[in-house]
Amino acid sequence: MPKRKRQTDGKRTEPTTRIDRRVVLGGMSAIVASALSGPTSAMALPEKDQQSRPALAGARLRKVATEEAFTIPEVAEAMRDVARRGGTNLDLKVLNLIYGATPDTSTSNRNTAAPTLLSRLLSLDATRISEMDANGVDMQVLALAIPGVQMFEADKAVALARLSNDRLSEAMRSHPTRFAGLACFAPQDPRAAVLEMERAINRLKLNGFLVNSHTQNVYLDDSRYWPVLEAAEGLGAPLYLHPRAPSDGMAAPFRDYNMDGSIWGYAVDASTHALRLMLSGVLDRFPRLRIVLGQMGAALPFWLWRLDSVAAPGSRAALRNKLKPSEYIQRNFAITTSGVQDPQALRFCIDKVGADRIMWAVDYPFQPTAPAVKFIESAPLSDQERAQIAFQNAQQIFRIAK
Ligand code: MN
Repeated sequence: MPKRKRQTDGKRTEPTTRIDRRVVLGGMSAIVASALSGPTSAMALPEKDQQSRPALAGARLRKVATEEAFTIPEVAEAMRDVARRGGTNLDLKVLNLIYGATPDTSTSNRNTAAPTLLSRLLSLDATRISEMDANGVDMQVLALAIPGVQMFEADKAVALARLSNDRLSEAMRSHPTRFAGLACFAPQDPRAAVLEMERAINRLKLNGFLVNSHTQNVYLDDSRYWPVLEAAEGLGAPLYLHPRAPSDGMAAPFRDYNMDGSIWGYAVDASTHALRLMLSGVLDRFPRLRIVLGQMGAALPFWLWRLDSVAAPGSRAALRNKLKPSEYIQRNFAITTSGVQDPQALRFCIDKVGADRIMWAVDYPFQPTAPAVKFIESAPLSDQERAQIAFQNAQQIFRIAK
């Protein structure tokens, strides 16, 4: 840690090396923590004894955000059609918010000159990169925004997946140090999906895949989707299992109180989906498949003890799993911090899942970037854990060039 002289008026003399504002603020919070917690705090310990520090104290932290959304005009237009047609699907609420007739009145941007949610999603250039720069985000791992192409008719979904992946790879070529990308595909047509997945990795050099949970109310453990899982495994590319609102069969209790989305429905749907992959035995069929879950693992880490105790292999007739749920988590899963900035939840996940399986994420533009940056820069982590979670794991798991 650089030594800083204290002046008699209490102000610090900044070190002569160039430091940015975030590091200064991090140092200040460390001093506050030191004052509050006395001589055992990280600030008071010699460098070699610091297992955990309240804030980044050294060089600037590289940050790769791993669940970041974009769209393209053609998909936005098709989404608008889906939203106009209406229906009972729970995701229509979020579609109306993003793509509805008056998207410019999204609450956070009303009466301001700030970019709207939709304009942020559509930017693969200046607007997006300037917000990344303003917050110190080095790279975004991009994916087509919820619900991907999964609410379109099959032919349209196949065509728009292809177009989206082309645009994504163009953006990555224009900004190779700022963008990585996860391909979408159309589960509605598994054969076409497999071809697009192969093209996305082998030709377009994308970094993996993202699927928005169920498609037409069917989850990926269904045998019709096995070719998709086989392709992801064979290509050695991770599949980000992004949430969407609960499928029609479990939608009713989520309709009130806005419970369908990020408040609760996303986590219930994503964790249910992940558990189906485990308990169906599908992960024994595809043992090298790598799944990424957002939202700190959608609460699954918290439930692992109980799941292991009641879903041990062969303990109930309906179970088809050969491993305990915690063993699948260790073998097949990684999680991200998208939308969760709770240091206690992060520490728990490090203990249960491992610091080498957790990646930082913002969920731009649905969640604000600044608090997510503050979280990863200030959470009580060792230097090694912070580097792993902020960028190293993402680089390894998504095979991003360093
Ligand atoms: Mn998201």
